[in-house]
Amino acid sequence: MEYDYLIVGAGLFGAVFAHEATKRGKICLVIDKRDHIGGNCYTETIEGINVHKYGPHIFHTNNKEVWDYVNALVEFNRYTYSPVANYKGKLFNLPFNMNTFYQLWGVKTPEEAKAKIDEQRKEFSYINEPKNLEEQALVLGGRDIYEKLIKGYTEKQWGRPAAEIPAFIIKRLPFRFTFDNNYFNDRYQGIPIGGYTKLFDKLLERCEVRLNTNYFNSQSELDALAAKVVYTGPIDLFYNYQFGALDYRSLWFEHELLNIDNYQGNAGVNYTEAQVPYTRIVEHKHFEYGVQPKTFISREYSKEWQRGDEPYYPINDDRNNKRYNKYKELVEKESKYIFGGRLAEYKYYDMHHIIENVLKLFKK
Ligand SMILES: Cc1cc2nc3c(=O)[nH]c(=O)nc-3n(C[C@H](O)[C@H](O)[C@H](O)COP(=O)(O)OP(=O)(O)OC[C@H]3O[C@@H](n4cnc5c(N)ncnc54)[C@H](O)[C@@H]3O)c2cc1C
Repeated sequence: MEYDYLIVGAGLFGAVFAHEATKRGKICLVIDKRDHIGGNCYTETIEGINVHKYGPHIFHTNNKEVWDYVNALVEFNRYTYSPVANYKGKLFNLPFNMNTFYQLWGVKTPEEAKAKIDEQRKEFSYINEPKNLEEQALVLGGRDIYEKLIKGYTEKQWGRPAAEIPAFIIKRLPFRFTFDNNYFNDRYQGIPIGGYTKLFDKLLERCEVRLNTNYFNSQSELDALAAKVVYTGPIDLFYNYQFGALDYRSLWFEHELLNIDNYQGNAGVNYTEAQVPYTRIVEHKHFEYGVQPKTFISREYSKEWQRGDEPYYPINDDRNNKRYNKYKELVEKESKYIFGGRLAEYKYYDMHHIIENVLKLFKK
């Protein structure tokens, strides 16, 4: 056999796997059906701006090993994700913190903010067991936060009324009683200088990569090339949907190059009212403090997934989890195939989780 590993998917799981295997002297062939490496982390340089083509990606982790791992490959900047919410033309800082409370109610101290939130929640103290996301959010945060910052955004993301979304989606509202707009709590955060594709170039620099190559167009020929196959595509498709298709939420983007240097002054602005059809606008240059004369923005829309759409977010409800567990039973019986990543495991993973998972696999 020509290769130790055939790796299906040049996304993060496939690329880190290929990098680690190559380091250990294994010969890998990486294929991807897309015309680029990087999977959903892929960035494309347009007018000098690194555009996050499949949605904005901010690297954040508490795991020093993972942080050191990526920093040994490429240099990261000190970017901190601090999105802003736009509700009917008024701006609010996110995540919910003292800046947000000041903008909502004019409160200036943590004590005043807590008192205001308690007063807002009191109206819903009659709800003992919230039956849906709407009730849950009202009980946890009161009317203003729910109506201005949660309702419209969540309904657009899920494509249905908040009263029809299960309550467990919101377990708690992370209130911060400091003036701190940093969206993540992790110790390490940043963006690869020059974009994520540079990170993938490094990960894959010593491997053979074939793009525009769909595994299922010649599965048996490809399988015959390698001792083991690492599969990072959709698990239901691998097994020909024999237990039915797994559901996803999908996204689509309206990309636009603008002839101005700064459109919104921030990488992310969430539109939290239902009447605006997109969920957010991303202005990519701000991830890298860009000073180019033009700017590139993406309006992000959420949609129901149908076969042929890009599967973005797994819907891990009971029905789909049960279905996935049936596929998992088949996975556990395989000896030639290794399955990993968000699509093969039907699980939302951040990038640092994926790297942790691959490194763990090699430690075993
Ligand atoms: C909108 C959005 C925003 C995100 N933001 C963040 C963030 O800010 N921070 C963070 O840490 N994480 C973020 N993530 C998560 C991050 O994208 C994932 O952790 C990461 O992309 C998972 O890598 P993967 O290799 O599992 O999957 P993918 O990146 O999807 O890679 C799988 C690859 O397999 C290929 N493939 C599939 N089927 C076949 C086939 N039949 N033949 C050949 N190739 C095939 C695909 O083309 C793809 O390139 C975000 C995800 C989304 C959707």
